[in-house]
Amino acid sequence: MFDTLSDRLTSVLTNLRGKGRLSDADIDATAREIRIALLEADVALPVVRSFIQGVKERAKGAEVSQALNPAQQVIKIVNEELVGILGGETRRLDLAKTPPTVIMLAGLQGSGKTTLAGKLAKYLAGQGHTPLLVACDLQRPNAVNQLQVVGERAEVPVFAPEPGNGVGDPVEVSRRSIEEARRSQHDMVIVDTAGRLGIDEEMMRQAADIRDAVKPDEVLFVLDAMVGQDAVNTAEAFRDGVGFTGVVLTKLDGDARGGAALSVREVTGQPIMFASNGEKLEDFDVFHPDRMASRILGMGDMLTLIEQAEQAFDADQAEQAAAKLGSGQLTLEDFLEQMQAVRRMGPLQNLLGMLPGAGQMKDQLANFDEKQLDRVQAIIRGMTPAERADPKIINASRRQRIARGSGVTVSDINDLVSRFFEARKMMQQMAGQFGGFGGGGGGK
Ligand code: GDP
Repeated sequence: MFDTLSDRLTSVLTNLRGKGRLSDADIDATAREIRIALLEADVALPVVRSFIQGVKERAKGAEVSQALNPAQQVIKIVNEELVGILGGETRRLDLAKTPPTVIMLAGLQGSGKTTLAGKLAKYLAGQGHTPLLVACDLQRPNAVNQLQVVGERAEVPVFAPEPGNGVGDPVEVSRRSIEEARRSQHDMVIVDTAGRLGIDEEMMRQAADIRDAVKPDEVLFVLDAMVGQDAVNTAEAFRDGVGFTGVVLTKLDGDARGGAALSVREVTGQPIMFASNGEKLEDFDVFHPDRMASRILGMGDMLTLIEQAEQAFDADQAEQAAAKLGSGQLTLEDFLEQMQAVRRMGPLQNLLGMLPGAGQMKDQLANFDEKQLDRVQAIIRGMTPAERADPKIINASRRQRIARGSGVTVSDINDLVSRFFEARKMMQQMAGQFGGFGGGGGGK
């Protein structure tokens, strides 16, 4: 699921890399491509519109981050907007104050309700709950039996009408199941209801009657993510006919475009709470908007990197360093601080490995010796403040003293000092060429 969308978004955003500064025209062009990618993935039009508007406004607006380059900023914005349409925070089940907590499942036939009932039961049992499954799908021949099979696998008891005893009235079955749950001390009740292939009034009425009978704490609308644009209509019909408090997406393991699933939260206003991604009982998880967004963006590691960069970054300090870079006044003290800021983000090998395209650099990364950096830091720490501020004063006798103090050879010191001067000169030339560093993170 989402593979095509993911590929498209990744390529749009990858195109931004290496741009020093983004003009409004760059942002418009990027927004246009994202729009096409979303529409092709079947995301509902109103959702696409508000998404694109959000991205454009924020990308053009004053949200200038010192820690990130322009491409990273756009990736961050797109990611946050994506998390937003997927519901923002992870939403957990609302538990009843006095048990049992009643969860009712609603959705079209074939959407995966019965399978989900088993998955949910197993998940809740794993959390220490004592769920009871209730078979209220009395429409479809074999549905009760199917739930019993699922219940056996999940090792959760099933409440079903006994033959000849109230068969045919799902509302009555649902009512009795609550009494049974109280009697047998089940703290959760999961009610499976009947679905039709299409939406019809009788089905809605029955679902609404069951709802009134069991007074559920949660009504979960089960949506097959493989269904295209029609999913949005179905969701709206269930919202208006029965009402629901959360959505479960099923069949996320399929290869459909998936955009309809992306629209359901925005269109109905109700959060996606669980995701089902396979036929086995274990193929099930709590739905996390942030994780799903980064999966869709296909840039999980890049996003981690962005987050870490923001955390490790001290804007004031970097601004000063940037100003010094341009004027050729960078000192070894600044150099040490910058190096420490980068290293706070974790081992450099991991950091480099997170950059897109780092795959090809794997061998070099494997040979990268973190100890070299330790050595450089040790040397600089072995210098006096005056030496760090003005490396020109580091003469032969000072070099010997520093070498002794930091456990390296004089030639190591020579190496470091001459590389520092070279780097400083290069930075100064680059700054002259590009009109200065800093100011909006354009000089990364
Ligand atoms: P119900 O009619 O809503 O109760 O739907 P079922 O639970 O009977 O599911 C319909 C079909 O979809 C069954 O063949 C299930 O095995 C299958 N199914 C359910 N959930 C998933 C899922 O997450 N992934 C896949 N691949 N198949 C699923």
